[in-house]
Amino acid sequence: MALIVQKFGGTSVGSVERIKNIAKRVAKVSGAGNKVVVVVSAMSGETNRLVALTHEASEFPIGREYDVVVSTGEQVTIGLLALALKELGCRAKSFTGHQVPIITDSQFGGARIEEIKCERLTAELNNGVIAVVAGFQGVDPEGNITTLGRGGSDTTAVALAAALKADLCEIYTDVEGVYTTDPGICQDARKLKKVSYDEMLEMASLGAKVLQTRSVEFARKYNVPVMVKSSFTEAQGTLVCKEDAEMEKVVVSGVTYNKDEAKISVLRVPDRPGIAAKLFKPLTEAGINVDMIVQNISHDSHTDLTFTVTKSDFKRAMKLVKEVAAQIEAKDVVGDPNIAKVSIVGAGMRSHAGVASKMFEVLSGEGINIQMISTSEIKISCVVDVKYTELSVRVLHDAFELGKEDVTEEK
Ligand code: ASP
Ligand code: MG
Repeated sequence: MALIVQKFGGTSVGSVERIKNIAKRVAKVSGAGNKVVVVVSAMSGETNRLVALTHEASEFPIGREYDVVVSTGEQVTIGLLALALKELGCRAKSFTGHQVPIITDSQFGGARIEEIKCERLTAELNNGVIAVVAGFQGVDPEGNITTLGRGGSDTTAVALAAALKADLCEIYTDVEGVYTTDPGICQDARKLKKVSYDEMLEMASLGAKVLQTRSVEFARKYNVPVMVKSSFTEAQGTLVCKEDAEMEKVVVSGVTYNKDEAKISVLRVPDRPGIAAKLFKPLTEAGINVDMIVQNISHDSHTDLTFTVTKSDFKRAMKLVKEVAAQIEAKDVVGDPNIAKVSIVGAGMRSHAGVASKMFEVLSGEGINIQMISTSEIKISCVVDVKYTELSVRVLHDAFELGKEDVTEEK
């Protein structure tokens, strides 16, 4: 007997028919003697619809009332799933975020979970009740409804698994697991059996959309094994877990890409202390996240500074940077939204040399110009012209032989 948290995403609960199918899956696991907590998202498209409604009602809807509106999608699905489970003869009860309660800070639209009080759920589970919990939502210390940011149900599930000390957290989605790259781009993309928390974290933040980044941070922090699998097939999924010796042998586990960034260059910036601080402070204050930053070596006390922001922040960032550039007497500011970030990720990079140079060679072999580079212990990212995204992904996937089973260091 185990305690299992199962999370079903929007497509898996996209219709009452599908909810009934999920109920069968859940009933089976519960019938085998396990304690089961089910976390569900809103029906697919529903959260988008709710977000659009808030924008119709207000120019700047983010805040307390935004969360009141967009959290409602999940309340519908928990009720429907609990009903479907009861139809199958199971004992089931639905819980909203504040009924659990899942306590968060007060950052409406992107709240962080601070504490989950488990007494009520534990009592229900001990009584043989299946707890159906609304994903994506919580309650702040003042009793306001909060939401955890788009894709937040993953985080609800992993956080619940951590708090309840569950044996496993299963994330059911519309893909069969985590792939070496986007199968839509690369025909021989392969499903990974296992991936480490660190690798998954890099992949999620670099553009792989299977799991919300914050859910992986949670899983790593509390060492929760997470199984990502399809809710439509019985196929074996991908286990996200602690790194083991086997994983370190694999130099590159995946290739990801992100077309959602734009590049801004500030040209001929006077090279003196405090300039970078001056440039980036207004961006931080405006809540604009800067990703890659490259500063060139200085020539006659001037340097060029290039960085990336998300496409949705591009226009705002350009305006702010132009203002500062004038103050600090930089020569010019140029922006380019037609870029993509292509990255390779692998735990084995820690212990293998030459990975970066191979990546650069492979790209140059196709005549692809690298505009920016950034690295961490286990990833290398290159900014390229957006029109080369798919080509870059394919040649890198090939060069690192990711389509083959069991890539090892000998290759
Ligand atoms: N329903 C929310 C969203 O669409 C949360 C989730 O699905 O994880 O972002
Ligand atoms: Mg999702």
